[in-house]
Amino acid sequence: MATLLHGISSPSVKEIVAPDWSLYPNFTVKEFTCRCGCNRSDMDTEFMHKLQQLRLAVGPLKITSGFRCASHPEERKKKAPGAHSAGLAADVVPLSCGRYEFLKTALDLDFVGIGVAKSFIHLDTGHPTAGRPALWSY
Ligand SMILES: [Zn+2]
Repeated sequence: MATLLHGISSPSVKEIVAPDWSLYPNFTVKEFTCRCGCNRSDMDTEFMHKLQQLRLAVGPLKITSGFRCASHPEERKKKAPGAHSAGLAADVVPLSCGRYEFLKTALDLDFVGIGVAKSFIHLDTGHPTAGRPALWSY
C-alpha cells in the first residue's frame, strides 16, 4: 500500500520508485534498460529482489531482455503492453545451472509467470492484464 506524503494511504496507486541498483549486486541497470532507445529501466523493486535471490541460489544469469516500454518492438506486437512494460519481467539464461534446477528454484521463489523458450526463460512476478500464475512455452 502506498503512503502518500500527506498521510493518506492509497491502495490503488502503486508508487513508481526507481530501484536502488546497489541492492542487486549481481546486476547492472544497463542489463535491464529498454533497447528501443528510450533509456528507461523502470524495474519493479520486488521483482528485482526476487531475481537477486534467484541469482544467489543458481549462479550467473544472462539477461536477454528486461524493461520494455510500450514503444519497444516486442511490446508493439501485442494488443496491450505486458509484464516487461510494467517492470515485472525479465528474460534470462542460466549460465551455470541446469534448467530443471533453475525452474524449481524460480517456483520456490514464487515467480508466477514462467515461459520456457529454447534460448531463454521468461520470469515475471505479475502481469497487468494476463492471468497469473501461468506457465507456457514459446
Ligand atoms: Zn523503450
